[in-house]
Amino acid sequence: MPTIDALAERLSSYLEPEQINQVCRAYHYAEQAHEGQYRRSGDPYIIHPLAVANILSQMHMDPQSLMAAMLHDVIEDTAVPKDALVQQFGDTVTELVDGVSKLTHIKFESQEEKQAGNFQKMAMAMARDIRVILVKLADRLHNMRTLDAMPPDKKRRIARETLEIYAPIANRLGISNIRIELEDLCFNAKHPMRSKMIQKAVKAARGNRSELVDKISDSVKKRLKEEGLKARVMGREKHLYSIYRKMKEQKKSFNQIMDVYGFRIIVDNADSSYRALGFIHNLYKPVPGRFKDYIAIPKANGYQSLHTTVVGVGGVHIEIQIRTEEMEAMAHNGIAAHWLYKDEEDESIGNQRARKWIQGLLELQQRAGNPQEFIESVKLDLFPDDTYLFTPKGRIVEMPKESTPVDFAYSVHSDVGNTCVGCRVDQQLAPLSTKLYSGQTVEIITAPGASPNPSWLNFVVTSKARSNIRHYLKNQKHDQSISLGKRLLGGALSMFQLDLNEIEINHLEHLVKEFGAIDFDIILEEIGLGTRSPQAIARRIAMFALGEDNGVSSVTSEGVFSISGKEGGVMSYAKCCSPIPGDDIVGFSSAGRGLIVHTSNCKNMQDMLDQTDKCLPLIWDDNIREDFSVTLRLWVGSGRGLVAQLAALVSEADGNLEQISVDDKDATLSVVSLRIGVQGRKHLADVMRKLKKNKAVNKITRQKNAV
Ligand code: MN
Repeated sequence: MPTIDALAERLSSYLEPEQINQVCRAYHYAEQAHEGQYRRSGDPYIIHPLAVANILSQMHMDPQSLMAAMLHDVIEDTAVPKDALVQQFGDTVTELVDGVSKLTHIKFESQEEKQAGNFQKMAMAMARDIRVILVKLADRLHNMRTLDAMPPDKKRRIARETLEIYAPIANRLGISNIRIELEDLCFNAKHPMRSKMIQKAVKAARGNRSELVDKISDSVKKRLKEEGLKARVMGREKHLYSIYRKMKEQKKSFNQIMDVYGFRIIVDNADSSYRALGFIHNLYKPVPGRFKDYIAIPKANGYQSLHTTVVGVGGVHIEIQIRTEEMEAMAHNGIAAHWLYKDEEDESIGNQRARKWIQGLLELQQRAGNPQEFIESVKLDLFPDDTYLFTPKGRIVEMPKESTPVDFAYSVHSDVGNTCVGCRVDQQLAPLSTKLYSGQTVEIITAPGASPNPSWLNFVVTSKARSNIRHYLKNQKHDQSISLGKRLLGGALSMFQLDLNEIEINHLEHLVKEFGAIDFDIILEEIGLGTRSPQAIARRIAMFALGEDNGVSSVTSEGVFSISGKEGGVMSYAKCCSPIPGDDIVGFSSAGRGLIVHTSNCKNMQDMLDQTDKCLPLIWDDNIREDFSVTLRLWVGSGRGLVAQLAALVSEADGNLEQISVDDKDATLSVVSLRIGVQGRKHLADVMRKLKKNKAVNKITRQKNAV
């Protein structure tokens, strides 16, 4: 059992005697306050705060954090008032204790809205003093270590909350020691069987690997020594949860993951890191594209290191990390390393970045419309991946993984995002949906008066872009819905030979009253959004206008509605059948999503065609000038450079090649899927004719979901 004396002994390695006395005083105070309280495990309560302080001492945290750790449950669980703590230990320690107590209250299990509100509180507490979250993380870590005493359902809940909230926060702050242990403990609590199996497999693999590990490590050490470079070389093992996650996410087998050998080289200074890298690349062949320089460009959580993958004897892949002692401390303890390498003059990079993140969190909170939006944004932010892009002037912009030029544009300024129409990536024109990679230079092309496209929501990844586009569309959609509603109702009314503009105002007012709407625009908007049927409204209007008995049944079939492709966010084309101009089409008005256009022979539509209040016949406007996506499937024999030839044929026919994929059936037959943008059926026929000219092509079909 840990004791205060053992802790005091350990603290003497980095604290002054007076500071250690303070920590001990806090311990004795807490011991007295918790007198007679026991943990679920049966241990005296004081064991827990002592263990939390122990964890923090391993990260060489400052005396105030350690004191707060000792006292962290005192306000909460004992009769000691806050004032008493202020008198005994001062404001700072008391504030820390208070902050941790508040965090302890936060339960993330509750419904979305409450959870989001709590998240905001946590962000505020962190922003005030980052040590609050560090004490809280240590608290959670000890609770996870002693989770076995809990009943099963509580165990699972705590594990899930830890995995979703606390482990990502530890990661965001770069404290990988705590993150890794939390993840493995959670994994064990959630999936005890799987955890045990992987543990066993790792143990077995360790035996098989040890010979090769030693061999590689020896030759690396030897080479560095020959070159006169002082270095520590060590083997690395992946932790259980990361193995499990890789198996699940990347669908890799256990053996595939264990086939990679990891090493870390610690050197004296950054300069030696690069020299060591040179020697390693000279010793083993590097795998192209795998070198990452996180020393020049640290990760968002302050992590710095060189990464490379090389090929060893027998073709095994060796992953190597090279860094200095200080970077190593940063990699394990993240923002907490700040107390280890205290430098009053300039704050460490990690600390600066963590501060920036928290600052950003607060701004996000002010911008977010509601707590759910906020929590969505924070969750995005908690899983940082690193893409570093350059503006044309050479400024570095940090973006999440898979960001697109639209995300980039919004990160510059929301006006730039709202008016962007195109972009150049590394000086080449590129689609706005292009996924960006580190090192690319991105130039955004804007046009005055341009506006965001709803389809952007399908590919943007940053919360800033998403919320800006949504905000814009919300306003925009209102106007568009009204005008679509007007046209739909006009079409439905023409079946009664009525014209919306000639309907008497009191008939409309009557209708507004009948439906309990505020004004007629609301009704039109609802029609546009698909929540009200234009036919039903038209029927009511017809009854007023034509008299009750002149009826519903005398409908002519002239009310056909034509679409121009400019209906914007309230109309969309069904993905199942991808209609293009020239196809026979019907519209299906779907609640909240507006009008969805299908081909009339689409399988999905057959059962719905009798729902006359929701389906309406449509025709294409003659002046439509947009591109529509279709997918062609080509059965082709093998041929050298075939894909390139097909792509060339598509563009010869002015088709817009959006995506190409090849599925090899056997040595002589492949099926090529081409997604192309065309203007209509005639254009599509031109493209297909061109493609048929290639001798390797046996058969072409258009992929459609028809009966
Ligand atoms: Mn606690």
